[in-house]
Amino acid sequence: MSVIKECMLKIQNGESILKSDALSLYKEDLDELLSAANQLKNEYCNKFDMCSLINAKSGNCSENCKFCAQSAFYKSKYAKEGYSLLSKEKIFDRAKYNFEKGVKRFAIVTSGRALNDEEVDSVCEAVKFIKSKINMKICVSGGLMNYNQFCRLKDSGVTGIHNNLESSESFFKTMCSTHTRNDKITAIKAAQKAGLNICCGGIIGLGESIEDRIDMVINIRELGIKSIPVNILEPISGTPCENNKPLTEEEILRTVAVFRFLVPDSFIRMAGGRSKLSDYGEKCFKSGANAAITGDMLTTCGISIEKDFEIVKNCGYQMN
Ligand code: SF4
Repeated sequence: MSVIKECMLKIQNGESILKSDALSLYKEDLDELLSAANQLKNEYCNKFDMCSLINAKSGNCSENCKFCAQSAFYKSKYAKEGYSLLSKEKIFDRAKYNFEKGVKRFAIVTSGRALNDEEVDSVCEAVKFIKSKINMKICVSGGLMNYNQFCRLKDSGVTGIHNNLESSESFFKTMCSTHTRNDKITAIKAAQKAGLNICCGGIIGLGESIEDRIDMVINIRELGIKSIPVNILEPISGTPCENNKPLTEEEILRTVAVFRFLVPDSFIRMAGGRSKLSDYGEKCFKSGANAAITGDMLTTCGISIEKDFEIVKNCGYQMN
């Protein structure tokens, strides 16, 4: 029996595939792998989830993540041209714009190690302001916050927290020395304890191996997380990753398809970097992925909401 069939049978019998299975799958025939991933997605999570975001506080970050344009350690233009937390009116304007175009989920994303108490209060005000006017689901990506802060966000109407593991534990250490993946896991567990949903994924194309990517998704699976953003590095001038060789589209497709085997019932969300793919991710959505961040990203341009709705329709999805 082929590796693909064996893994599908395991999943259909209620088991999780192992790291060794995932590594073997990655080397299988491309068309068969993509078709099987699509079948799994149809069987276990045949819906599409679309969200949008605002970069509500940008640049000047105290952390040294090598892939990030917002770190004050590097010389990217975004690190210098940062701004502090936007007003609730500005945040609402973007939320309303996306809502009126049909996107029902909105993430308030901020740069920095963690929001402080005062900033958490301001974000809570912004969330209440939005919720008083439109029926939008709100997520917050505010870094390494604590249980108390997560509880306040939840009370204000936030439903989800975003915090990426980014890569495997060992590879992450080569990318960032100012905080650890354990710091992230501690924050994720505190948010879960506060009753919030978690969106947690990572970034590919940093120079990590497929093994690192698989380890990351297994860690996310162990945390019981069901929304997994996949960012594809867009090398930004001035960061240590500026000269990284881009991943091929085949590597990206294989990676996403293997992720579907690892987490068959989760939303695999194509995030930053998708606009650089020749088809804006359509092949990924037909072979494992079933969610997207639409519109502009944090420091890079995304794909218009209209175009994304067209792609989702072409793929035959129902919106979540
Ligand atoms: S990824 Fe987040 S914590 Fe790391 S440098 Fe960028 S903004 Fe700061």
